[in-house]
Formats: sequence, structure tokens, C-alpha cells
Amino acid sequence: MKILISGASVAGPALAYWLGRDGHEVTVVELAPALRKGGYAVDFRGSANKVVLERMGVLDDLRARQTGGSAMRFIAEDGRQLMRLPPEFAGGELEVLRSELSQVLYDHSRDRAEYVFGDSIATLEQHAGGVDVAFESGSARTFDLVIGADGLHSVVRRLAFGPERDFVSHLGYYVAGWDLPNEFGVERDGLMYNVPGRLASVGVDHRDSRKAGAMFVFASPELTYDRRDPQQQKEIVRSTFAGLGWQVPELLAGLDNCSELYFDSISRVDASRWSTGRVALLGDAGYGATLGGMGTGTAIVAAYVLAGELAAADGNHAAAFAAYESQLRKPVKACQAGGNRAGKFLAPATRFGIAARNRLLGTPFLLNQMLRLGEKVSSDFVIRDYARAPQCQ
Ligand SMILES: Cc1cc2nc3c(=O)[nH]c(=O)nc-3n(C[C@H](O)[C@H](O)[C@H](O)COP(=O)(O)OP(=O)(O)OC[C@H]3O[C@@H](n4cnc5c(N)ncnc54)[C@H](O)[C@@H]3O)c2cc1C
Repeated sequence: MKILISGASVAGPALAYWLGRDGHEVTVVELAPALRKGGYAVDFRGSANKVVLERMGVLDDLRARQTGGSAMRFIAEDGRQLMRLPPEFAGGELEVLRSELSQVLYDHSRDRAEYVFGDSIATLEQHAGGVDVAFESGSARTFDLVIGADGLHSVVRRLAFGPERDFVSHLGYYVAGWDLPNEFGVERDGLMYNVPGRLASVGVDHRDSRKAGAMFVFASPELTYDRRDPQQQKEIVRSTFAGLGWQVPELLAGLDNCSELYFDSISRVDASRWSTGRVALLGDAGYGATLGGMGTGTAIVAAYVLAGELAAADGNHAAAFAAYESQLRKPVKACQAGGNRAGKFLAPATRFGIAARNRLLGTPFLLNQMLRLGEKVSSDFVIRDYARAPQCQ
């Protein structure tokens, strides 16, 4: 089949790998002019993640690039430690930078798929024989299937399923991340500084201690801004954190020269169905949770299952889409629930909330319970073996 995938971050290239391997003619269209940079770390946990990465043949490559994870050291304004979470809390079993994961998946799939950067689907129209797609660049093509792997603000979802407001719930927080030189004396642990409703944090790249990454989280009702205008987004971050102490002014100064700002609401996506006709959603586009919802591992497993079901259904895309959704809906929803707590956990709204979080997680028993919960949720995925034709050359 001719299959168009929208989005080249994690879910898109992972699916492109499997579909290309199975002999489909795959095109991936990405809005950004090149693979997106932006340095936050993502983690994998649980056997399903590991099995799929192994079957894709990228596990060793990712292990060679792993960050090693960072402990999260919550500190007072004078740098005093208030509470420390071990590296596995945020770093799982394997942690890599999202940008490097994306690069590995792209390198792994580029021989089997056509990548088109700097373009986007403008319209799509389904009919019995396929999906007619017009691109913003002016070109037009027909595909058998279209897959939306284009994240929280998916254009495929908007065009084929309905407006964003029907699918995306704002969870009351925003997150911003950017890279900057490590001029903060950060060594091994990430440093996290809270005031009510706000978190400013910085972590070091363990493989090159001259590089650091800042992540800020803040409580806010939904904001109106241009998602394609990083200057506007930088202004929002600057004004929200203006006047704070610790190293916040220096971290904000790093915004001036960062290579890419990541800025988004902490939101979750709920779609009552993941496909309509010849169009399906994958990853954050269909069931994202911005952060805290194990979205990367989910996207990798889901790409494997979607491609596997298409191979098993032998051309019957309706059957494949139904099997993909029925297998994954339950475990995906369990993972996604973690996203509901992420903002409140990272930036509690009150001084009391900050102190209570620090006290509770400073207790080894409760910390272990939290770690075990993550393990349990990620072990709910069951990975089928899909009978596949020998690899297409
Ligand atoms: C700070 C932070 C930390 C995180 N940590 C973790 C973690 O530790 N573990 C974890 O599992 N997950 C983590 N996540 C979540 C994880 O990043 C996502 O769940 C995961 O990247 C989902 O990938 P995706 O490919 O579905 O979507 P995305 O990564 O959002 O990619 C969507 C792609 O589509 C492109 N696109 C958008 N619009 C269009 C368009 N109109 N046309 C074409 N392309 C388009 C975008 O440019 C992008 O490349 C974290 C997220 C954040 C923000």
C-alpha cells in the first residue's frame, strides 16, 4: 500500500521502519524543515519497550547513547537539598534525548521511506479507493492510508476527526525546555527549584558536561499564542518567571541563544476511536499526555502493533485498525493517567503542597510504591509475535 505518515518525531519514524520493512510504499511528511532538535530526555521502562526496540534493531544504538538518567534534587533558594529522587524515578531503565531517539529512528527507516520536510497536509479527502491529500506546498497525491503521528496538535486529527478542542484537555500547566551551556555548576543531579505553581530546573548532559538543559513548568489557564512563533513563547516564559531568585535569571538568559525552544501545554488527548475509514492516529496525536504518561514507550510499542496488525490483516485496513485499538486502548489509558499528575507533582500550587510532596517522597516506602506503580503500568502491554514476510530489500 501507499501510506502517508504525518510527523517525524518518534511515532512516525518508528512506524515508517516497520511499514517499509513490510514492503509498503511509505512517505513521511514533517512540518519542521529538518528533524526537530530540542534536548529533553525520554525514558523507556518495562519489557514491552525493550522487546520492541530489540526487534527494531535499535536497542544497542540507544544504549550507546543513553544519558544514564539524572537524580532530581529539589532545592531551596540557597541551594540546600530538600528532597532527592533517584535517577530511575525519571530516567526509567533506558533514558535518551528525544532528539537523538528521533535521529536513530530516522536513520533506521530513511532507506525504506521517503521523508519530506518543511511541508504539511492541507486537506485530505477519503473515498472508496484511497485518500486524496493536498499539501501546503501545493502538491497533491493519493494514498491508500494516512496515519497521524503528528503529536498533540495533530493536523490529521483536525482534518479527519474534528476540531482540537473536542480531543485535547488542558491540564492546567505549561512546560518549556531549552538547551544552554552548563554555567551553573551542575554536576550529576538535576536541580529543581520550586515556588508555588512554578518549577525551574536544570540538568547536565552526562556525556558532555559543558552542555545543560533547562526545563520550566508553570500553572496557568489556557493561553492564546502562536505555536509557530518561538519569540512569543519565550516572552511567556520570561514574564512568568521574572523576578524569581536562585539561578532563574541566568537560566532565562539562556533562552536568547538556545537552538530550539520546546513549549507546550500539559494536556491529554482522548479520542473515542483511533481511526476513521482509511485514517488512523498514532502516539501523542491519538492518546498523548505531554509528559508523565510514558508517551515515548507507548508510541514505539503502538507503531509495532499497528504495522503488525496491518501485516496480519493482509490488506484489510479496517480489521487492522480495529485490532490495533482493541489491543492497546487499556494499557495506553493506564499509562496516560500518569500525565494527569505531572504538573501538580512538579509544581504544586501552594507552599504547603510543595512541602507535602517533599516530605512524602522523601519517605523510602512511598518512593518505592511510586516506582513500583510505574513498573506495573508499563508491564500491562502484551507484545504479540507477528508473522512477517522476509525483509524486503
Ligand atoms: C519535557 C518532556 C519530557 C518527557 N519525558 C518523557 C519520558 O521520560 N518518557 C516518555 O515516555 N515520554 C516522555 N515525554 C513525552 C514524549 O516526548 C511524547 O509522548 C513522544 O515524543 C510522542 O511522540 P510522537 O511522535 O507521538 O509525537 P511528538 O513527539 O509530539 O511529534 C510530533 C511530530 O509531528 C510534527 N508535526 C506537528 N504538526 C505537523 C504537521 N501539521 N505536519 C507534519 N508534521 C507535524 C512535529 O514537528 C513533531 O515532529 C516527555 C515530553 C516532554 C515534553
